[in-house]
Amino acid sequence: MKRILGYRCTICGRELSFAPEKYTCPHCGEKGILDIVYDYGEVKKSLNREFLSACRDNSMWRYRALMPIADETDVSSFLRIGWSPLYESKKLRDELGLKALYIKDDGINPTASLKDRASGVAVAKALELGYDTIACSSTGNAASSCAGSAARMGLKAVIFVPRRAPQGKVAQLMIFGAKLVVVDGDYEQTFELSRAAIEKYGWYNRNAGINPVMSEGKKTVAMEIAEQLNFQVTDWVACSVGDGCTIGGVYTGFKDLYELGLIDRIPRILGVQSTGCCPFVNADKTQDHALVPTPEETLADSISVGVPRNPQKAQRAVYASGGRWIAVTDQDILHTMGLLGRTEGVFSEPAGATATAGVRSAIAQGIIKANETVTVISTGSGLKDTANALKAAGTPRICEPSLAALEKSGIL
Ligand SMILES: *Cc1c(COP(=O)(O)O)cnc(C)c1O
Repeated sequence: MKRILGYRCTICGRELSFAPEKYTCPHCGEKGILDIVYDYGEVKKSLNREFLSACRDNSMWRYRALMPIADETDVSSFLRIGWSPLYESKKLRDELGLKALYIKDDGINPTASLKDRASGVAVAKALELGYDTIACSSTGNAASSCAGSAARMGLKAVIFVPRRAPQGKVAQLMIFGAKLVVVDGDYEQTFELSRAAIEKYGWYNRNAGINPVMSEGKKTVAMEIAEQLNFQVTDWVACSVGDGCTIGGVYTGFKDLYELGLIDRIPRILGVQSTGCCPFVNADKTQDHALVPTPEETLADSISVGVPRNPQKAQRAVYASGGRWIAVTDQDILHTMGLLGRTEGVFSEPAGATATAGVRSAIAQGIIKANETVTVISTGSGLKDTANALKAAGTPRICEPSLAALEKSGIL
């Protein structure tokens, strides 16, 4: 692929040749997560303003010149991933007291989370390389997105989820016909089991932290945000963080556009975690920013990650963009789910509302100022986790079927 110069290790900085099946740096081992290095001069020839304004592909594949997918690979029959709406908020903007607020609703993706972006690229790559099985471990959304895209494209999927995965996500996995391993353990143990099995059986590895093609899919969310804002990006972009692959991708997406000359600055990135599991926020308070494993005690299951698998890209996203780390309580997250629903009609799962909860808190702390502009990413749909939605919004009262009873009920 002429567009791709090779890999660069996020730890040692070594440049490596582009071998499609390389997952991590051979010198740094498991932790040596790789970046993909593009020849921007080459990419510019096909990906530029003219191309984008004429492009009728309303999916993430409009940016495929910046993806590690061979030009011959046909993605036309994939599920329709990406090009999710960017809503300009008025009510919530005023309620929060901001100059401008935009909500990127990635819950509308085919399996209802941002993870579809990574899974689409992974499935394309697995097919390109001739695999018949793709595997991953996940707190839920990576799993269901992987199983959905795999089903559509005729790949077998082997999925490992921790026992706590919400019913909605487990139901998706069953419907998509994945081979499902529900692990009697936490996400850390689930990840380790998947790693051992992938090594033993030789499946294609979709694990978020390890495989460098994942963040190349996730970065398209940032490219869409920029394009939907006519390349005038907001001062801040807020994103919830578990493994760190999503926020890492968000930064890479803006960085790529900056290198191509399509935007003239990179937004400051707000990384948001729950106080119930916030290894990045804890690390931020130390001198060397070293991560320490933490218990997984938040109801925001998608970001309940005690040992993040993609720390370098996540920390780079925040520090290189001049952003900040912030933690919010589960109570704040539930409250914000209701707020997003009531004021904007956006139904987020807890991890999806976490970014917005982080913005509220950042405003209260004076980190984000009233004269600044903000984009929040809602990373997943609340329909997958109705138990927590009802916790956030309460359960409805029942009414006898008569007008008199309705009048007396107090519901209206
Ligand atoms: C996976 C996920 C995140 C966090 O992404 P990481 O790459 O794990 O940091 C946030 N929100 C939702 C809904 C997710 O599924």
